Amino acid sequence: MQYFNTFKQCIVETALRLLEQDVLKGTGGNLSVRVTGQQAFAITPSNFDYAQMTLDDVCVLDWESTLLEGARKPSIESGMHAAVYETRPDVNAVIHTHQPYASALALINKPIPALYDEQVRFLGRSVEIIPYAPSGTGFLKKKVQAKVRNGHNAFILKNHGALVLGSDIERAIHNLYLLEKCALTYLLALCTGEKISRIPLAVREIAFAKLRADEKRQGDKETW
Ligand code: 13P
Ligand code: ZN
Repeated sequence: MQYFNTFKQCIVETALRLLEQDVLKGTGGNLSVRVTGQQAFAITPSNFDYAQMTLDDVCVLDWESTLLEGARKPSIESGMHAAVYETRPDVNAVIHTHQPYASALALINKPIPALYDEQVRFLGRSVEIIPYAPSGTGFLKKKVQAKVRNGHNAFILKNHGALVLGSDIERAIHNLYLLEKCALTYLLALCTGEKISRIPLAVREIAFAKLRADEKRQGDKETW
């Protein structure tokens, strides 16, 4: 369907960009965008070289993960992406990566507390750990669905990687870099063994209230 092409194009261009910037490596990670006005999303194919990807390789699925368009097998994490779109009307783009610093925190089971006001403004009160479930399973989908209700936009998947959400693809990419900066500096700070200071609670709550207000505005715009 011609209508899907804009969304597929966005997937092709973004995957290439993230590959060039070394955020996506090999075939690890996946990304999707919501198809505006429909209960559907465009997502990367599974286990596919993103450098070679064309519009025809991108899959379009509905929220039950029925393939609406695309010749390839969709990402094994399609269920997790569908769960986000279903649960969060404000989210129009989802990126899952195996970015190293967030993944290191996934191994030591350390959520990121409110370290920076910018972090809370865009990612949420903290970056929580989503409990472990094997990649590509309904168990992981359920765990993701339960967590993303909190309105946060970045999560660490235990023993796996990162999950970031955005009101559009640019915001999701921004959130991905912000998460990695927070993860890196938190890890460095942890290595010193010194006490790690957080932003004041009042500032945290003001920043989070702004994020929630944006999300409500964005969610109200959705027509599905
Ligand atoms: P896909 O290639 O199926 O998207 O899987 C990659 C991945 O990161 C699984 O968690
Ligand atoms: Zn993965």
